[in-house]
Amino acid sequence: MQAFSLAQFVGAAARAAQLPPEEGPEVAFAGRSNVGKSSAINALAGRRRLAFTSKTPGRTQTINFYALGQGSLLVDLPGYGYARVSRELRSQWEALVGAYLRSRTTLAAVVIVMDARHPLTALDEQLLDWLGGRRVLVLLSKCDKLPRREQAAALKATRLRLATRAPEARVQLFSSITRHGVDEARALLETWLQGAEIKGPR
Ligand code: GDP
Repeated sequence: MQAFSLAQFVGAAARAAQLPPEEGPEVAFAGRSNVGKSSAINALAGRRRLAFTSKTPGRTQTINFYALGQGSLLVDLPGYGYARVSRELRSQWEALVGAYLRSRTTLAAVVIVMDARHPLTALDEQLLDWLGGRRVLVLLSKCDKLPRREQAAALKATRLRLATRAPEARVQLFSSITRHGVDEARALLETWLQGAEIKGPR
């Protein structure tokens, strides 16, 4: 059984050539910078500092790999959308993350963390386009910042907007602070990792 609580750092890749062999299955986490992706990974793993990001725009960005047991991997993709990053850094990000998402045969599912207050930015949509038919879980993060009625509205609106672009994507509310949705997300991801069959890009 894959256990998020057992996650152990195994390595990082700054270039496509440094990616570890495809042994998987893998679940990758993506999201705009500062959206709460590291906090979400830590909440799912029950750790305080498994994943952490430097807030310095411009540093080398890597894809980080964590073993979950039974050959499964958790993959932390570099965040996107720093307003201040150079064009060069952005194209490096696209080359690395694009290569990984388009070609990784052992990628069982992708979690896209979006801020519940501003879901589906243009960059989130670009990412969804790269994912084709892969399994996707959208976490609407920091939901504790919204009153309950607005949480429900954000969930409904995001599902509606995803209906054409990614009709099979699952969407749920999430908070690393209140732990809303943590157990539900972990259970779904563990099921997806166990359910061997990997859906590639369309
Ligand atoms: P990342 O850049 O996407 O990895 O984002 P981080 O996980 O580092 O979080 C960015 C900021 O948002 C930090 O100040 C966190 O404390 C805060 N944050 C993350 N998750 C939550 C959440 O669920 N609720 C609230 N209120 N703040 C959060």
